[in-house]
Formats: sequence, C-alpha cells, structure tokens
Amino acid sequence: MTCKNPECGKHIEKRKSAKRCYCNDRCKNRAAYIRRMENWYEVDAHNKVLKTNYSILLKLKNFNLGPISIQTLQSHGFEFTATHKDVVANYNGQTKTVSRLYDIYYVIENKHLIFKD
Ligand SMILES: [Zn+2]
Repeated sequence: MTCKNPECGKHIEKRKSAKRCYCNDRCKNRAAYIRRMENWYEVDAHNKVLKTNYSILLKLKNFNLGPISIQTLQSHGFEFTATHKDVVANYNGQTKTVSRLYDIYYVIENKHLIFKD
C-alpha cells in the first residue's frame, strides 16, 4: 500500500499493524493537517458565497419590490448553488418550509423569490 499522506505517496511495507497507513508520524500529522486545511477552505468559500448572497438579498429587500425574479437575482450575482438553511415556519396557522439566510427568510415560487418576515 501507499502512504496516505498526499504529499508523500511512498510505498509502505505491510508490517505488524494492518491499520498502518503512513510511513511515520510526520506523514500522519501532515496528512491530518492537509485534510483540515481543505475542510476549512471549503467552509470559508461557502461562507463567502453566503455573504455575497446575503448582501444581494438585503439590498433587494430594502427596495421593497415584492417578488423578485430569479433572472434579476442572477444578474445581481446571486448564487443558487449555495444551499441555504431550510426552516419550517408558521404563517397564519399554516406551516411552510422557508429558506433562511442569516436573518432573511424567503421562499421561491414560480421562479420568483418572495421575502417572508
Ligand atoms: Zn509518507
């Protein structure tokens, strides 16, 4: 088998332990570090998209335009690939699933985004 440290990739002789995946502790620690960095990068990139989306929504919300077409959102740079949290909210006795982005709640219906308070 090969060392699981992506920067190493040396061949490891099978020894006593079948669980041995790294040539040494340095490789093991390095691999863990790389994994952590990759995760952080993804979280960070995702947060950036969410923040951009948030500022777009906030701006549009303050215009009080009513439902906003998906086209308009896209022209502002809104990223639909970033998934926002879905929450179940209660509106006049009706429960509805709404999307949440920080403190902005909205639903998407008929290709339009509708803000919910
Ligand atoms: Zn190694």
